[in-house]
Amino acid sequence: MYVVCKEHVELAIDMFVDEYEDAPDVVDLKETKFSDWDPPVKCKECEQKAEFLVV
Ligand SMILES: [Zn+2]
Repeated sequence: MYVVCKEHVELAIDMFVDEYEDAPDVVDLKETKFSDWDPPVKCKECEQKAEFLVV
């Protein structure tokens, strides 16, 4: 699972496919509320705000 900014979504998808050999779901963090989990504030790959969950 990767939490990334908009610019790194494609990179995260590539990493996911490499690792799991399956296509991920991309979740928009702005449109999703998690009851028992707070997603990271920052992108995994840079210092920008995390916007998408690749899972
Ligand atoms: Zn980023």
